[in-house]
Amino acid sequence: MTKNIEQDKLNIVIKECQDFFGQKNNVTPKIIFVYSREEMDKALGRKTQDWVRASTRPEGLYFIHPSKVEELTPHKNDDFWKVVKHEMSHWFYNQITGTHNGEPRWLAEGLAMFMAEQKGLVPSFTEESITQKYYSFTDNETYRWGYLMVKDLVDEFGKEKVVSLVKKINNKLTEGIFSELFKNEFGVSLSAFEKKVKRHYFKLR
Ligand SMILES: [Zn+2]
Repeated sequence: MTKNIEQDKLNIVIKECQDFFGQKNNVTPKIIFVYSREEMDKALGRKTQDWVRASTRPEGLYFIHPSKVEELTPHKNDDFWKVVKHEMSHWFYNQITGTHNGEPRWLAEGLAMFMAEQKGLVPSFTEESITQKYYSFTDNETYRWGYLMVKDLVDEFGKEKVVSLVKKINNKLTEGIFSELFKNEFGVSLSAFEKKVKRHYFKLR
């Protein structure tokens, strides 16, 4: 891999995201490679953990250069283009919603995982409400629960409805408003759908 991203492959990812979100005239992001953890921390303005290999910021998409991924992170360097698709999903999400923090976190990460086909590990079961816990908080489980939630939403209602929900999100979103938007879009409450997803994957009574 050279210093610059392969533009033809990047164009395919952009096109796939445009098709998914039904969004044509969006601004496409700058792609920025970094080559050390220090550079990444400086770019993101915070100390990042070793597993962080990419990030979406208003000025563009940051990636640890594929030649450095195995040295600087626990990841294998065999899924770079999935990571590009993941970050591109965030870019579109942020553009559509006018936000930069991507709330609800489980939805933004779940969508990115789903679009990039990053089927992760099954999360640990918890009685806690994961849609509440992961509204603005991110850890490993945010990605895992998010993937399952988004996959089941798409399977049950179709991706158009999921995209339609995303398009109703704006930077005034609160957890309460999101719950209302969810119920209006899918005809089921967020908490009821979460229970259904838990039953699906954990065979609860
Ligand atoms: Zn992400």
